[in-house]
Order: sequence, then C-alpha cells, then structure tokens
Amino acid sequence: MIVHRYNIVTGKYTDANIPNDWNISVKDDNDTIINCIHCGQPIKYSESFESIRYTNEHGKGYRECPTCYNNFLPLTKFQ
Ligand SMILES: [Zn+2]
Repeated sequence: MIVHRYNIVTGKYTDANIPNDWNISVKDDNDTIINCIHCGQPIKYSESFESIRYTNEHGKGYRECPTCYNNFLPLTKFQ
C-alpha cells in the first residue's frame, strides 16, 4: 500500500510503498501488535510513537518503533 513520506531534504512528500501484510494504523488498541512503518518491526501500539514523516492522506501520522522515531528526531533540527 502507498503512504505519504516526508522528505526532510526536499521538504516535500513522496509516496512510499509499504508491504501489504504489515499491520500499520494511525489508531489502535494499546495491546494490538502493529508494524513499525519504517522498519517493519512488530511492536505493541502502546510502545509506538506517532511518526513525523509517514502520514496518511489526512496528514495523520502512522506509528514508528522507538528506535526509528528517535533516530529521525535529530534530523528535524536541520529543517
Ligand atoms: Zn522501526
């Protein structure tokens, strides 16, 4: 499936192709196992963070694991 991915270098959104068997969501129960939108690692929804870079068509962020989320945060300072 296609999601919107923010490119921090160009400041524009591009399409990212996510495997169809990944469980990605913008809202779920805390105990539901979802896939990190960036690396695909299964994580509990309650342990995920709202993505700054991956959003749906309404601009709502998908969920990332703590590693991906924290790795991206320093990049946002160079905007
Ligand atoms: Zn991840």
